[in-house]
Formats: sequence, C-alpha cells, structure tokens
Amino acid sequence: MGLIVQKFGGSSVANAERVMNVARIVTETYRQGNDVVVVVSAQGDTTDDLIAKAHEINEKPSKRELDMLMTSGEQISIALLSMAIEKLGCPAVSLLGWQAGFNTSSSYGSARIKSIKADRLKAEVDRHNIVVVAGFQGINKYDDLTTLGRGGSDTSAVAIAAAMHADRCQIFTDVEGVFTADPRKVPGAQKLQEITYDEMLELATLGAQVLNNRSVEMAKKYNVELEVLSSLKRVPGTIVKEVAKMEKMLVRGVTKDTDVARISITNIPNIPGIAFKLFSKLAQARINVDIILQSVGRDGTKDISFTVSKENAEGAIEAIHKTFDIDDKDIICDKNVAKISIVGAGMETHPGTASKMFEALFEHDINIDMIATSEIKISVLIDAKDADRAVSAVHKAFLPEE
Ligand code: ASP
Ligand code: MG
Repeated sequence: MGLIVQKFGGSSVANAERVMNVARIVTETYRQGNDVVVVVSAQGDTTDDLIAKAHEINEKPSKRELDMLMTSGEQISIALLSMAIEKLGCPAVSLLGWQAGFNTSSSYGSARIKSIKADRLKAEVDRHNIVVVAGFQGINKYDDLTTLGRGGSDTSAVAIAAAMHADRCQIFTDVEGVFTADPRKVPGAQKLQEITYDEMLELATLGAQVLNNRSVEMAKKYNVELEVLSSLKRVPGTIVKEVAKMEKMLVRGVTKDTDVARISITNIPNIPGIAFKLFSKLAQARINVDIILQSVGRDGTKDISFTVSKENAEGAIEAIHKTFDIDDKDIICDKNVAKISIVGAGMETHPGTASKMFEALFEHDINIDMIATSEIKISVLIDAKDADRAVSAVHKAFLPEE
C-alpha cells in the first residue's frame, strides 16, 4: 500500500478501447489499497496532428500559441480517462498541469519545471480520488500555458513522484521494458530486469526511445525509482535505479542512431585557436556537437571532423563559413552515416571492451570512421548501410543468446 504514480504514453491511450484498458490497470492498483496519481500523454499522434494543423495556418506560429494548442491534446486524454475510471466504479478527478501546481520557466515549447505546488494533488488524494494529470504542461510566471518539450510527460510523472514522495513511479508504454537492443530488429534482444540511471541516460540519449532523458535526469536527482513496463502485456518491466544488478553483463545495450551527419573540414591552418573558434561559433548557433576528431597536422594544415544531428548539418556548414574563409570543396558533409554504441557500467572496470567491439565489426568487414568513448559508453561512426548488421554483430559478441 502506498502512493503510486502511473504514466501512460500516447499509444497506451490511443483509442477508446485502450483508454478502458488503462482505466482497468489504474482501478486495479487503486482497489489494491493504493493512492494513485496518473499522468497521461495526448492520444496517439495527436500532438503531431496539432502541430500540422498549426502549420496549415501559419508556417511560423508563435511558440506561445503553439503551446496553447498542444496542451489541448493532453486535456482530451485526462477527461476521457477519468470518465473511463468512473465507469469502472472508482472516483476520479482530472487536472490540467496548472491545476496540479506545475510551475515552469517561461520558455514556451521547452519549459523546465521549476516547482510543483502539490496542495491540490494532495487534497484530491486525501479525498480518495484517483487523480488524472495532464502530462507535458505547466504554467509560467505570466500565467501562460507552457509545454515541456516533446516526450515531456515522462518528466511530469517523475516530478510528481518526487514532489509527493511516491513509493513507485511506473512508466507504461507499448514495449515491455528496456531491451539490450531494439527487439523488433535484433533477434536475441533481451529485456533487462534492472538498469542504472546513468546507463539509461546514455541509452535514452543514444536513441533507445523508451524514456525521455530529462525524466531520467530528474529521477536520478531525486532518487525516484522507475519501472518501465507495457500497458498491453502485464509482465514485470525494467527497473531504473542508482545501483542495478549486473547479471554477469558487461554491456547493457547496443544502440543505433541514424540521425547523424558527419562534417569534415580539410586544409585548415595548423595553428592554435582553430578548434576554439569553430566550436564556439557552433555553440552560438546552438548546435550540439557529438563526436569530434582532429587529424595530426601536416604541412601546416589539419583536418577536423565532427558529427551533428541531420537537421543541424546546414547550420553547421554556415557556422564554418562564418568562422573561416574556406572553399566549399574543403567542407564535406556526409549524411549516410550511423552511430553504433554500446553502454554498460561494467566496462569501467573491464579492459578489452573496445577491442571486442572492434573485432565484431572487423569480422563483418565493417569499417569504422570515428570513435568516441566515455566511462560507460563506446560509440563508433560507420556507413549507414552497415548499421543493422553492425548492431547484430556487436550484440551477438556481448550478449549472446542463452
Ligand atoms: N504529447 C506530447 C508529445 O507527443 C508529450 C508526450 O507524449 O510525452 O510529445
Ligand atoms: Mg506523444
């Protein structure tokens, strides 16, 4: 018995049948004697549809109005879910973000949660209501509605769990948990029982789209234990926490990210300050750089390569032109690349992890373009056409099927 926060993503509430399914999960938890706060996203592709609607009217809608529009998606979900819960005979009350006390920064479209004034939430729980809260939204100091950035409902759920000292925070989705690789693509991908916050953060950032990475950061900060599980198949999911059982695993996951562009600049002068100037220009343009590689200088010149997301490729090239007086032929942009990564806290203390990964790629005749490492991650950049083969090969090397 305790306070349980349950979050359901857009696919879990996509239609009436799914909403009823969620209501059954929620009421079951409630009838077991728990207090329940539920956070929901907009149904199915509603948020995308709303954005498309906005763009039909105005290609550059103001961010304030876009937030006003987008928050309506979650408003639909909370009302429908509360009605479904009532139909199953339990008391429910729906609350928008502002009613639930979500105070955010003022940046529309990517607001940060500043505080949660949980009085109303607590009062509703004390009245034994199941409280259904709209995820992904809050209110800023101008009393305007804001949204937290795409996928922000996970963060709403974790924030409530932290503010109310919930005993558990369950994130329901359409997959059974966190897997060692994409189970739809990699045969032998296994569901993890447990994973650490840091590993999950790396996986989330690397494109394993189970949890929004801000929500994991927040869970780590406030030590909120998360469970990722399926709303459709009722089996135990994956627990995300500070220290996780290693289960003899050196590597916890293999990921592929194809939203990568590699930009190379050749023939730049081999003098101090070049990298500084280039990367500060990129930072000014708010372009996030991932892997960086600089060649050894020769004959007074050197090369620098780096990766950015595909949508930032053009902006990065612009920044290069602003920094150096450089010929177009000395800038090469390649969008046919993919980043393959392995993640695992165990590799910190195990030598030979990188060589094992490179060997698996070599055995499949896959060429490595760039390499980047951190304490718990190794990433390689390869040709996009080899990406799926590379994931399977690396997965097999580290996580053979039992
Ligand atoms: N509905 C919002 C989105 O699609 C928030 C979320 O799903 O978490 O980004
Ligand atoms: Mg959504």
